[in-house]
Amino acid sequence: MAILSMSKTLFKSLVHGPYTVLYPVKKKETYERTRGRVEINISQCIYCGLCQRRCPTGAIQVNRGNTTWSIDRLKCIQCNYCNEVCPKKCLRMNNEYTSPSFGSVRDDYTNARVSGDKENN
Ligand code: SF4
Ligand code: SF4
Repeated sequence: MAILSMSKTLFKSLVHGPYTVLYPVKKKETYERTRGRVEINISQCIYCGLCQRRCPTGAIQVNRGNTTWSIDRLKCIQCNYCNEVCPKKCLRMNNEYTSPSFGSVRDDYTNARVSGDKENN
C-alpha cells in the first residue's frame, strides 16, 4: 500500500514539474501589498533619524549635517518599521523587489533644496 502511495506522489511530481519559479528568468508575481523595497520622497525628509534608530538591521543611515539618507538594500528585511515611525510620511513600501546582486546595494539620496537652504543660512 505504501509503495502505491509513494508511486502516486512520485508520478504527480514528475507530471507537475517544479513548484519554484525559475528566477530571474521568470519573475514571481507581486501584489499590491507585497513588501518589496523602501522608497523615500527625499524632498519631504527632515533628517530626524527616527527611521535609522528604529531599523532593526541598521540598513538606514541618516546624516543630518550632509542632508543625506541612504539605505543598504540587502540589509533591509522589509519589516516596515521605518515607514511606521516617519513623522513626515515620506517613506513607503514599494511592491517591487531589489534586483539580485552579489555585493552591497546602497542607494543614497540627498535633498538639494535642503542643502541649498543650509548654505543660505
Ligand atoms: S524618519 Fe522620515 S523624516 Fe525622519 S529621517 Fe527618516 S525618512 Fe526622514
Ligand atoms: S523596512 Fe525594516 S529593515 Fe528595512 S529599512 Fe525599514 S526598518 Fe530597516
